[in-house]
Amino acid sequence: MPEIKVTLTTNPKQKPDQSKLGFGTYFTDHMFLMNYEEGKGWYDPRIVPYGPFEIDPACMVLHYAQEIFEGLKAYRTPSSEIQLFRPWENFKRLNISGERLCVPPVDVDFAVEAVKKLVDIESDWVPSEPNTSLYVRPFIFATDNHVGVHASRTYLFAIILSPVGAYYAEGLNPVKIMIENEDVRAVRGGMGYTKTGGNYAASLRAGERAAKEGYSQVLWLDGVERKYIEEVGAMNVFFKIDGEIITPALLGSILAGITRKSCIELLRSWGMTVTERRLSVDELIEAADNGKLEEAFGSGTAAVISPIGEISFGGVKHVINNGLIGETTQKLYDELTSIQWGKAEDKFGWTTKTK
Ligand SMILES: *Cc1c(COP(=O)(O)O)cnc(C)c1O
Repeated sequence: MPEIKVTLTTNPKQKPDQSKLGFGTYFTDHMFLMNYEEGKGWYDPRIVPYGPFEIDPACMVLHYAQEIFEGLKAYRTPSSEIQLFRPWENFKRLNISGERLCVPPVDVDFAVEAVKKLVDIESDWVPSEPNTSLYVRPFIFATDNHVGVHASRTYLFAIILSPVGAYYAEGLNPVKIMIENEDVRAVRGGMGYTKTGGNYAASLRAGERAAKEGYSQVLWLDGVERKYIEEVGAMNVFFKIDGEIITPALLGSILAGITRKSCIELLRSWGMTVTERRLSVDELIEAADNGKLEEAFGSGTAAVISPIGEISFGGVKHVINNGLIGETTQKLYDELTSIQWGKAEDKFGWTTKTK
């Protein structure tokens, strides 16, 4: 593996108050960078002081949005070691996103080593208060300076780190979500299964409309028939209907969440039935109305598990489990967070120490 050159800052920042971290506001002292050039491959991996990029106004990413990203966390364990949760999965997925957007692949093992090395250098930034962690944001973007549509010949791969608190300031309280039936986020054949900024750009307007009505997230329907449930904001979604856990199948328009995959594996290890299939909004609303919709929750790295207490569809509100956290939802949250923060035995081998 190529050597990662390290240049340390001479001007470290003051660390923020751990009780007021919020999400994605503070960034650490260093970042990882690596360049790509067609014919040369990835070169010059380095850790340097955190700071702005100089971007030419014709930089292709600014015009054609050729960029991909990932999101994972480093957790401080009770014995003060630092561990990552399934980081290989993130870089495998980064390459899946890259394949769709014509971004060259990175070496998965090398990328995980880069994260470990960077987090290790920034280990003082990994917070220790309950529910805090160090969010890791790898991303790659097109750097050719050219106003013309084609895949870039040069790229920058960067990893930045942000100490974060709990995603929702209110804690593990059920959120209210609104089913969107006008805008769509993605269609099969598009980029829905990738982590790319463009998918988020497409989601903003519906998010703003939902927020105005007092809803914290949008639940997307499929872009073709506007009939099947897809996912929620930056989370996959699960429903417990009549004792069975149902989550939308991965058919190309939704993201294959690592938290989603972990939830499925945990639930099955408890002997529960998990079905990945298409679920229509009509079936969901009918289940809600006849009392069979027992629980609903979102899953994602940022929030881990987010219970859903109310769904609005076409202006009609449907309260789930009296707006309270369901039993399975709570159990999943407890088990997953215990593994991530190293408080429970990791029987699945999901975690890896940074050193
Ligand atoms: C990142 C993301 C998720 C969650 O994926 P995890 O790997 O569980 O963090 C779900 N949906 C979208 C659109 C995402 O970008």
